[in-house]
Amino acid sequence: MKVGARTHAGKVRPNNEDGYLIRDRLLAVADGMGGHKAGEVASAVALEVMGEYPFSQGQPESDLRRAVQAAHERVRELASQDPAMAGMGTTLTAALIGPDRVFVAHVGDSRLYRWRAGELKLMTEDHSLAAELLRAGRIDEETARRHPHRHALTRAVGIGHSLAVDVGSFPIEPGDGLLLCTDGLSALVDDEDILRILQAEPSAQAAADALVDLALARGGVDNVTVVVASPH
Ligand code: MN
Repeated sequence: MKVGARTHAGKVRPNNEDGYLIRDRLLAVADGMGGHKAGEVASAVALEVMGEYPFSQGQPESDLRRAVQAAHERVRELASQDPAMAGMGTTLTAALIGPDRVFVAHVGDSRLYRWRAGELKLMTEDHSLAAELLRAGRIDEETARRHPHRHALTRAVGIGHSLAVDVGSFPIEPGDGLLLCTDGLSALVDDEDILRILQAEPSAQAAADALVDLALARGGVDNVTVVVASPH
């Protein structure tokens, strides 16, 4: 598997609350939120718990669900122990890559795309207020893009007592590519530009670098993180 990754604070925010994880066949991105350093802690802790989880013990989907629940419990525990960390949370999008399937666990508005034969397909649903309204048919895409609460998450790791985790899988074939990213990319770079870069760049790392560069060129208003992988 060839993998490239890059994370950047962007041009406006003082801290980078995003993070990513690459461990064997497990890829993940996280976008933390919270005051002071809490957002950085939440995303880092969630990725750490994912990285330490003993995958391959059971079924990939139940393993992923347990790993994200463990991350949720750990973030909540730390938040309860330190008032400066109260209310911290993070998105978490993780992909466990098997020989012919990708298993996904997802909470929040980070994204996983599959790239196949000149087509980019979003494999996750954003858990944001605007995206939920759009899926319910109550607003259109244009309104969703400009919605004042488009970044307000309806779910986050570490927030609330229980956490609903989207878990699923999809097939992959030789030649397919995967992109995991935080909203710092997807809010500024649309699918067409993402696809153009994935097709033009000679390596996963060159593509990751070019995607972040484009988000920065368009203002870099948020932290931005991308992981690009060619599983075969
Ligand atoms: Mn973000």
